Amino acid sequence: MSEIPYKIYLEEGEMPKQWYNVRGDMKKKPAPLLNPGTGQPVTAAELSHVFCDELVSQELDDTSRFIDIPEEIRSFYRMYRPSPLVRAYCLEEKLKTPAHIYYKFEGNNTSGSHKLNSAIAQAYYAKKQGLKGVTTETGAGQWGTALSMACSYFDLDCQVYMVKVSYEQKPFRREVMRTYGATVTPSPSMETSIGRKINEEFPGTTGSLGCAISEAVEAATSQEGYRYVLGSVLSQVLLHQSVIGLETKAALDKYGIKADMIIGCAGGGSNLGGLIAPFAGEMLRGENKYEIIAVEPASCPSLTRGVYAYDFCDTGKVCPLAKMYTLGSGFIPSANHAGGLRYHGMSSIVSELYDQGLIKATSVEQTNVFEAAEMFARVEGILPAPESSHAIRVALDEALKCKETGEAKNIVFGLTGTGYFDMVAYQRYNDHEMNDFIPTDEQLQKSIAKLPKI
Ligand SMILES: *Cc1c(COP(=O)(O)O)cnc(C)c1O
Repeated sequence: MSEIPYKIYLEEGEMPKQWYNVRGDMKKKPAPLLNPGTGQPVTAAELSHVFCDELVSQELDDTSRFIDIPEEIRSFYRMYRPSPLVRAYCLEEKLKTPAHIYYKFEGNNTSGSHKLNSAIAQAYYAKKQGLKGVTTETGAGQWGTALSMACSYFDLDCQVYMVKVSYEQKPFRREVMRTYGATVTPSPSMETSIGRKINEEFPGTTGSLGCAISEAVEAATSQEGYRYVLGSVLSQVLLHQSVIGLETKAALDKYGIKADMIIGCAGGGSNLGGLIAPFAGEMLRGENKYEIIAVEPASCPSLTRGVYAYDFCDTGKVCPLAKMYTLGSGFIPSANHAGGLRYHGMSSIVSELYDQGLIKATSVEQTNVFEAAEMFARVEGILPAPESSHAIRVALDEALKCKETGEAKNIVFGLTGTGYFDMVAYQRYNDHEMNDFIPTDEQLQKSIAKLPKI
């Protein structure tokens, strides 16, 4: 076998031509979305008021294993894909670990994260349907950034409701979105009826993804020629993100490397779901075994401390109900918590795989996460996003365990993005002003008690 290079690049022609839909290989499928009014599975017709038609059919398709990637999307992907799989030789050296560490780097596009993979697909289908524009929410701002880029490429209007705390803490993110032509509104706003209601109920709230989703859905359904798009959680988003996993697998296969461990950070579950998709597929078909670990923040621990139940996807309860690991749609993580990974629930695909025992989950505290981020930045040269650094933390810990046991495990993790817009959080870390916030059982119980009765 040839020496493994620092960066394993695939040829352009090796970029996937189809997305992989892991649901096609699941014997027990994720539970269907329910209409909150009737308690029945939502129909395509009901969803089509909110989402683009083609995306509705992807959302509801739990049998097709592969779905063609339209050529228009592949040609956009070619600007920044295939993305490199990096062998972290420098990090291994620094840790003096026998483990082999690989990371799939999704931060090498201008939006700075993996979110562009789905943004361009969703914008494409909106354009194809002849829509005027789309509305969305953004938390830390990466999704809004990716979507505004994608919309400007296809000449679509883009209206972004940005979680207020991020809007205030991340003015530069906001300006990137505006540069690409998007309108950015801090959420909860006074511009939608649901925003006014939330502001009245929770005066001074710094917002949450759940609130911003409700506002964006209301904005989409109240304007002619608009639909709502979402950057994570939904099965269609995990489908688009499967390019990450397919490329990772192809790159490993090229050098005959068998991953032992696959680690990803988990907010709504889209990068993790995409990264692990082909590997989980092999496990579901009984062809191979991997240890898959989802890493979430201790401040918003849906998999490790939530319940597996039907819940609202948004605070305003306008979206369909999804069965997922959830902390309750009323859960608002501490404003102390840096960056993304603030969503109260987890993708129904990741939730079901976790429930079936195919993947494990762990939570990490943010000061430990930044410690890992700093160490990684100093040796690998990439300043990682705080979200990605959750996966770095666990990859480091696992590599250190290998040092004790002498095992040369192949550890693969997803480096979802860069952290250049997160310097306020880095500053807090550098100034030793960062602290950890872990919700108490009582706090979680309060929002979990309000789950809908199904
Ligand atoms: C949004 C984001 C995440 C978390 O979202 P998932 O849907 O869980 O992948 C992780 N990393 C970065 C850089 C992000 O922008």
